[in-house]
Amino acid sequence: MDPAAILADRRRFVALARRWTAPVRLQLGDVRAVPPSLLRLIHKVGARPAVELRGLPPDRLVPTLIELSGRRVDVLLHAPWAPTGLQVIDDHGLGELLFHALRHAETHQDRALRAALDAHRGYRRILAGAPRDPGDPLDLRWDLTHAPIETPRLTFLLTRNCQLRCSYCTVQLWDEDGALDDQLRGLQVLFAGRAQAVRMQFYGGEPLLQADRVRLLVERARELARQTGKELSIVLITNGLAVDAEIARFCWLHDVEVLLSLDGPAQITNRWRRPHARPLAGIPRADADTWGAATRALRLLQQAGARVQVILTVAPSGVGDTADGLAHVLGLGVRAVQICYAMGLRWGEAATEALCDQLDRIVDRHGEALSDGSVTWVNLWRSEPLLIDTALQLETDGRICFMNQCIFERHRPGRNYGIAHVRELQSLQRVGATRFHSYALLTATYSDHDPRHREIMLDNLRVGEAVRTRLTERLGVLPTAGEA
Ligand code: SF4
Repeated sequence: MDPAAILADRRRFVALARRWTAPVRLQLGDVRAVPPSLLRLIHKVGARPAVELRGLPPDRLVPTLIELSGRRVDVLLHAPWAPTGLQVIDDHGLGELLFHALRHAETHQDRALRAALDAHRGYRRILAGAPRDPGDPLDLRWDLTHAPIETPRLTFLLTRNCQLRCSYCTVQLWDEDGALDDQLRGLQVLFAGRAQAVRMQFYGGEPLLQADRVRLLVERARELARQTGKELSIVLITNGLAVDAEIARFCWLHDVEVLLSLDGPAQITNRWRRPHARPLAGIPRADADTWGAATRALRLLQQAGARVQVILTVAPSGVGDTADGLAHVLGLGVRAVQICYAMGLRWGEAATEALCDQLDRIVDRHGEALSDGSVTWVNLWRSEPLLIDTALQLETDGRICFMNQCIFERHRPGRNYGIAHVRELQSLQRVGATRFHSYALLTATYSDHDPRHREIMLDNLRVGEAVRTRLTERLGVLPTAGEA
């Protein structure tokens, strides 16, 4: 539509708009020809404006995108990194676009684009210890003012202790447990937002080394769900070693979904999942047969009627075992499975292709069970690339972080990626938690200090996209990626 024609005869335009019987989007051409008053007029008549962005240098393009997002204007963007077609740039849409921009800048070492993105994100300033800037729309308090599309998720990292030292584990393990006050505060901020559904997750280290704390927090969360009327899902990620009949019954009783780590038959699982050779006092020494411990836990959970999902982790050197590992797990009566490719290490093209071929074998072998719903393959729902997942985590020292930041800890150990402290937050909705935020923090914390980390991150992003592409090619349109 011609902006000049609308502005020349506003009355005619308003009269025309009254006759529209369905939502209308008006494409207005180049953004430089569209005055703000026209955008206001179009919103006033209930239509959605869309503009074209072409030929703007990065230092003008990035702020223009942010401004248009605030004005609820859709964009048709001509840039080498932009997806094709019209983009709805609500908070999450803007996060997606800026993620693509940052990925392009990282891949091609596009300094002008990086500088433009850096100028509009708060992470660099936060990491340098400077105060936050509430006027910066990409600061950490980027409020999700439009309807949030994802269920807010908070992972409670209860302890940095674990009985195992798995070969592919990238989390730094040491002797530290979280404080109850911080965890109770974490529950409050999780329930404080506008979202009608929330999810709490337990992770570690091994969360069941703190079984009493798990019980207390689950009971408190269920109480908050009753008081607020919110839908609550609870997930416990465990190696299974500390599962007993009482814990299994508790999980069933409180509808805690257990994500149990088991990589396949004994020879595969025991190769990767190894006992800690020198456990601290108070941490039980694990037996070398970690498969035996995990399958015992599985039986107890199944007997109690608890919901169980098995996570199989695969590393590049063991990728050829993936399909057999999954077949073994299904043979144990498991009905929900997820394959996690190890992150924080380089896969490369050959191993990525081998992983995709294993997915093909899984579809070939279990296609019927997948299509009749008797087996839930969580990878079909998962948001890829998993590296930049937006789940937040409450650390043992009370900081709020993106859950996946810990994947690179072993490369640069230390507490260097917190984005807030739980005691400072009113609600998770006040934290900018898009995929752009997650990736921006990873780059600022790790890539900018070592180009090898940049390469590994770009590699891990490619693995996630290759997985999603291969599954789509084999199975057609996948369910809308959610948070799994
Ligand atoms: S059980 Fe989990 S936290 Fe413990 S070493 Fe293995 S992967 Fe790491």
